[in-house]
Amino acid sequence: MSVAENIKKITSTIPARVKLVAVTKTYPADLIMQAYNAGHKTFGENRVQELIEKQKQLPKDIEWHLIGHLQTNKVKMIAPFVNLIHSVDSLKLLKEINKCAEKENRVIDCLLQIYIAKEETKFGLSFEEAEELLHSSEFKQMKNIRIIGLMGMATLTNNEAQVRNEFSSLKIFFDKLKTQDSRLTTLSMGMSSDYTLAIEQGSNLIRVGSAIFGSRT
Ligand SMILES: *Cc1c(COP(=O)(O)O)cnc(C)c1O
Repeated sequence: MSVAENIKKITSTIPARVKLVAVTKTYPADLIMQAYNAGHKTFGENRVQELIEKQKQLPKDIEWHLIGHLQTNKVKMIAPFVNLIHSVDSLKLLKEINKCAEKENRVIDCLLQIYIAKEETKFGLSFEEAEELLHSSEFKQMKNIRIIGLMGMATLTNNEAQVRNEFSSLKIFFDKLKTQDSRLTTLSMGMSSDYTLAIEQGSNLIRVGSAIFGSRT
């Protein structure tokens, strides 16, 4: 199937409340343009360098999301244009985003990345660390960032029960935080292999790459 058909298939099967980020990492501009020409305007990259190159090259009305780990020294490069950073995993990083956003005269939307997988390699905050951050006076003084929700990645496993449990734990935590802060609206969970489970567990933002653009080589 074509990129356009894949997007149509996914968007027609997910509930209207769920937004799709088409993950373009490793895919060339012509393939991304097939999605763009089919009317899709929200794309995600996991590496800063690749994000910057594609943002320069591709149409300016694309909404770019950074979904991968962000180093503090690279924040200034994406601060002028990034629409949503899914992967905030420390107060130090958030401070830098706030500083760079202020220089750009912008408010940058962010998600806190929460560690829910049973894997050593995934970045993210624990539930306790996230709450601590949200309650800190330093965070409360930041005027140029807005935390609008949470992001999580489940363990890469065929064990559906485990994946469901991990997504469910994040949804429960999200609902708890939401009662304290009405700006929290967005729960980013689910990729090509597990977005159906993620939506079933309450995700309203899915990050899908290979199911749209084909497997990465
Ligand atoms: C690559 C990536 C995705 C998309 O993965 P697919 O399996 O291609 O759908 C989603 N989220 C993050 C953080 C990624 O790095």
